[in-house]
Amino acid sequence: KKLPLDSSDEPGVRQVKGACFSRVKPTPLTKPRFVAVSHEALALLGLDGEEVQNDPLGPEYLSGSRVMPGSEPAAHCYCGHQFGQFAGQLGDGAACYLGEVKNPSGRWEIQVKGAGLTPFSRQADGRKVLRSSIREFLCSEVMFFLGVPTTRAGSVVTSDSRVVRDVYYSGNPLNERCSVVLRIAPTFLRFGSFEIFKQPDEFTGRRGPSCGRDDIRGQMMDYVIEMFYPEIQQNHPDRVERNVAFFREVMVRTARLVAQWQCVGFCHGVLNTDNMSILGLTLDYGPYGFMDRFDPDFICNASDNSGRYSYKAQPAICRWNLVKLAEALDPELPPDRAEAVVDEYLDLYNGFYLDNMRKKLGLLTKNEPEDEMLITELLQTMHDTGADFTNTFRSLSQISCPGEGETETETEEDIVKKASDLLLEQCASLEELKAANKPSMDPRELAMLLSMAQSNPALFQMISDRATIARQLDRLGKLKDLMETSQEELKTKQAEDWSRWIARYRKRLARELEGQSDAAAVREERVRVMDSTNPRVILRNYIAQNAIEAAENGDFSEVRASIHHSLVFLTHCSSPQNKKPTHFSSFAFCPS
Ligand code: AMP
Ligand code: MG
Ligand code: MG
Repeated sequence: KKLPLDSSDEPGVRQVKGACFSRVKPTPLTKPRFVAVSHEALALLGLDGEEVQNDPLGPEYLSGSRVMPGSEPAAHCYCGHQFGQFAGQLGDGAACYLGEVKNPSGRWEIQVKGAGLTPFSRQADGRKVLRSSIREFLCSEVMFFLGVPTTRAGSVVTSDSRVVRDVYYSGNPLNERCSVVLRIAPTFLRFGSFEIFKQPDEFTGRRGPSCGRDDIRGQMMDYVIEMFYPEIQQNHPDRVERNVAFFREVMVRTARLVAQWQCVGFCHGVLNTDNMSILGLTLDYGPYGFMDRFDPDFICNASDNSGRYSYKAQPAICRWNLVKLAEALDPELPPDRAEAVVDEYLDLYNGFYLDNMRKKLGLLTKNEPEDEMLITELLQTMHDTGADFTNTFRSLSQISCPGEGETETETEEDIVKKASDLLLEQCASLEELKAANKPSMDPRELAMLLSMAQSNPALFQMISDRATIARQLDRLGKLKDLMETSQEELKTKQAEDWSRWIARYRKRLARELEGQSDAAAVREERVRVMDSTNPRVILRNYIAQNAIEAAENGDFSEVRASIHHSLVFLTHCSSPQNKKPTHFSSFAFCPS
C-alpha cells in the first residue's frame, strides 16, 4: 500500500488519526470449512476452485485463519454519512485486507469479511454469521452474472467458532457459527474513504479523524486516480482539471450503476456514503432485496422506517451521496466545479435508465419521446395488478410484433387477449394483493398520529415522517377497495389493464418496423436483445433464505445450487457483456 499506515502500536478499538490503514491480525476460526466457492471469482486470482476446495488448508487461508506468505493484513479507516447524518469514524470493523494479487486478469484486492476485531470494530465483535455471509456471497456472484458492476465473492467458510447474535432468530443465543467471506475487487475504497478528512459537521460538530490532513487527502487522490483511473491521470496535466474529471467519472459510473439496479429490481437497502464504491461497484450486501411484485416504495431494510433507501429513492440518494463525496474532496475539487458535475447526474441517470428499459421492451430501431410514458405505464400496470417484476419483463418478448405468425382469422383483439392472458399469470390474486397492501404500521398508532396531525401539527412534524404516513394511508385506501372487490372482478380489471397496455405496446412495435426492409430480422433481433437483457432468474429472498436454513443445518447443497441458478441467465443469453465461462458451457441446469 502506498497509502499511510497507522503506526500506533496501541491495540484495540480506537480513533485512528493520520492514517488510511491499520495493521491487524485476522482472528483464526476453529475448524474452518467451505460452505461454497465461486469458481469464476477464484479464477480471477489464478486459483482453481476444485483444487482449492479439495485442499485441507483452503478454508484456513481463505478465511484468514492462516496468513499467506507475503500478506500484510490491514483494516481500512473510513467515515460515512449513515441515514443522512455524519457518523464519524466507521472503518473496517469486521473486514481485513490480505493484500493484492496481480495476474493477467488484473490486479485484485482480497479481503476476509468476518475475520475478527480491528481498531474499527466499535462495540461489535468483528465476526459475521452464516446468514449474512451466505447473503453476501450469493448476491455478489448473482450481480456479476446479471452484468451489474459489483465486488466479487470467492468463497464462504463456516466454522465451530460461535458468536452471540439475535436470540429471536435462532432461539439460542450461542447458536450462530462464525463465518467468513473472501471478497475480491480492484479496490474496496469508497466515498467514505475520503470522509476521514471532513471538517466539523454543521449539525453534530463531528469531524473526520484526519481532518486537516490535506497532505494525506492529496496522496489518496493520487493513489486512486493513478491506480484506477490511469487514463484520467494521463490526459489531465492540470491537477484541478484531473480532479474534476475523476469526480465526473465517479458520477457517471454511479448513475450507470443505479440505472442497472433499477432495471433488475435491486434495492441495496443501506446506501450510506461508506457503502458507495469509488469505482461504481455494488458494495456491501446487507439487507438488500430484489423486488418480487413491482412496488416503487419497496423497502428491504427493516430499520429504514422512513423509506430513505426504498427502491424509488435510490437514484436521488446516490446523487446526495455524490454531493457528500464532493464536500470531502474540497478544496482539491472546487465546489463550483463539483456542483456543475452533480447537475449533470439526473439527465445522465435518466439516459442510462431509458436505454436499458428500451432494451427490456425491445424498442431498438428508434427512440420516441413517448417511450418514457410507455415504460411508466408498464410499471404502473405492474403495480396495479401486483405483477412480478422479473417474470413480467421476461414475458414481454413473447408478445408478438404486428405481422408476426398471425393467422388470417385472428383479429387484433384476439392477439391482445392472448398476450394479456400470458401476463395475467404474473399478477397477484385478491388475497395476495390484500396482504401486500396491509399497512405495516399498527392501525392504532396510525389513528393516533392522524389525530395528532390535526391537534398539534408542530409535535406531529417533530416525531413523524409524513411520507411514511402517506404511504400507509395509500395502502389503507387500496385495501379498502380490495375488500369490496371479488376475485372475479379483480381478474377482469387486471385483464383490462393489461389489454390496454399491450394494445399501446403493439402499436409502438408496429412503428419499430416502419421503414425497415427486413422486418423478420428486426423481430428476431428484438427477441434476442430482450431475452439477453431481462433476467430469467434473480436471487429471490426465499431462495437465499432456504439456502441459509439448509446451511445452518449442515447442508450446503442449496447454497451451491443457488450459485448455479444464477449461471443459468448467463448460459441462456448472448449479450457480449456476459461472457460465457468456458468450463460451464455444458451446464444444462434449468430451474422452473
Ligand atoms: P454496514 O452497515 O454493513 O455498512 O456497516 C457499518 C459499520 O459497521 C462499518 O464500519 C462496519 O465495519 C461495521 N460493522 C458491521 N458489522 C460489524 C461487526 N460484526 N463487527 C464490527 N464492526 C462491524
Ligand atoms: Mg458497509
Ligand atoms: Mg455490511
